[in-house]
Amino acid sequence: RTAYVNGQYLPLEQAAVSVMDRGFLFADGIYEVSAVLGGRLVDNAGHLARLARSLAEIGISNPHPIEEWVRIETELVSRNGLDEGLVYMQVTRGAAERDFSFPKDAVPTVVAFTQAKTIRANPLAETGAKVVTVPDIRWQRRDIKSVALLAQVLAKQAAAEAGAAEAFMVEDGAITEGSSSTAFIVTREGTIVTRPLSNALLPGITRRAVIALAAEFGLTLEERLFSVEELHGAAEAFYTSASAFVMPVVSVDGETLGEGRPGPVARRLRELYFTFAEARD
Ligand code: PMP
Repeated sequence: RTAYVNGQYLPLEQAAVSVMDRGFLFADGIYEVSAVLGGRLVDNAGHLARLARSLAEIGISNPHPIEEWVRIETELVSRNGLDEGLVYMQVTRGAAERDFSFPKDAVPTVVAFTQAKTIRANPLAETGAKVVTVPDIRWQRRDIKSVALLAQVLAKQAAAEAGAAEAFMVEDGAITEGSSSTAFIVTREGTIVTRPLSNALLPGITRRAVIALAAEFGLTLEERLFSVEELHGAAEAFYTSASAFVMPVVSVDGETLGEGRPGPVARRLRELYFTFAEARD
């Protein structure tokens, strides 16, 4: 595998950053992930816009204009012969003497790599995913795609230990989002519900596309808070992300959800999203 590190394409085993990198010492950095389907980047402009926003929010100047980011991603996809999977991009404030406040002339560290992943024929989408709920113990700027992912690591591990694929995180009785996805329910009346954007959750790029698709195809969707109880009693649930696209949920905290198989709304949105993803970059 070939990775990108600060302007160079290197075999992954040779790709390295300093032990004094602030990403390592302080999680002082951000990342972004775009899907690749049929060798093409999916909704990539949205991901690169969010990358720029995350950097601006933490005061790191964007090391590359959009076109250069696209060149790096495209080059990695090509060098790795990637047909289906993910491109990860990560930017930290750089390597400097250990001190909390921003270093004077640190140069941002830029790392990117690809990961092959089966997206379309993902068997989990056929059976549907199990999820567990966990307290959302993260900080208060979850709108920034920070590399500080310890809470998500612990949430995903709790899910794995319960035999589940994803953890939905809960704050004040309401779902914020999945540990690496946006959470949705479908009420018994057929309304799709997802939490409105705020500092409490990441503005999902897949979320935005799914909301637009729901509007385009006449599905009712509300952006509002929903509780754990509402999730348990929902007709359907699903989650969205660049890696899972639209993933139906069939069980919550060990209890069967709805019919216990992927619901019609989730399946429809999954199909619509694939059509959207194949239609453009
Ligand atoms: N929330 C969190 C915490 C995430 O890590 C992700 C995955 N990047 C998402 C939501 C979904 O965002 P997207 O659809 O842009 O991948």
